[in-house]
Amino acid sequence: MSFHALLAATVALASPAPSEPAAALFAGTAGELSHVELSAAAQRGAVVLWALGALEQHGPHLPLATDVYIPQAQLAGVAGRLRQQGIESVTLPPYFWGVNHVTGAFPGSINIRPEIMAGLMEDVFASLEAAGFREVYCLTGHWDAAHVRTISEAVRRADAAGLRVRFLAPTVLADRLGLTGPTIVRVELPTKSPAFPDLHAGEDETSAMLAIRPETVRTDIARRLPPAELDPERLARWRTGGEEARRITPDGYVGDPARADARRGRERHEAIVEALTRALTESRAGRGSTPRP
Ligand SMILES: [Zn+2]
Repeated sequence: MSFHALLAATVALASPAPSEPAAALFAGTAGELSHVELSAAAQRGAVVLWALGALEQHGPHLPLATDVYIPQAQLAGVAGRLRQQGIESVTLPPYFWGVNHVTGAFPGSINIRPEIMAGLMEDVFASLEAAGFREVYCLTGHWDAAHVRTISEAVRRADAAGLRVRFLAPTVLADRLGLTGPTIVRVELPTKSPAFPDLHAGEDETSAMLAIRPETVRTDIARRLPPAELDPERLARWRTGGEEARRITPDGYVGDPARADARRGRERHEAIVEALTRALTESRAGRGSTPRP
């Protein structure tokens, strides 16, 4: 990344539409617990929830942390539903130094080497195990193939080392990337409403952000954005990433953000929370038996 791009990214990081400043960072996460409280939760058999996102450009209308906010909000919903079922959980602060292969050429997309991220994840898993936790469930809000494969591999290694670690992977994503094996928990997500590929900072993600963090959405800009539709051939080239992706989508989004709607975002959020909770509890129910490959 050039100095200019780094500077632009830094400015963007330092000046989002301000909201609940410092309190929001660790709200509802293990970052607010004392070590005594954390240890007691581990001894009671609490499961650990971890959202893994990335700082990534999301068009001119959404913040760089979009892929962090969304899975974190989903896991907050999952934690609430688990609590209703008498299942205790501890949510880690979200991870946001992700791998940005596809949009890595944009300012604000921080690109971490996969081996660095995987190593960091494995160290986190080892620390959790040392603290007494037995089960960890990971979720990603960032669907860059290199990022997802990094999570899948780190989860697989940590699980093989003894801690029970699972990756809550939407079926559409797992099938596209060929993710299989006992550590993959397939999650059937509700179908999206958009008619054409709405892959990045489009109607779906903008609606989600209007539902969970409306103060961070530049709605006046979003309403004026023309739809960016990619046919399969251009989509395949977009996925090769870097400068090619930036050339194909200079504004940084794929989909139709102007059609975003907070109510649809809330409905879909609730449906996703329900699907994640069901997949997680079914996975737990299968503990000890041989998982389906
Ligand atoms: Zn995103």
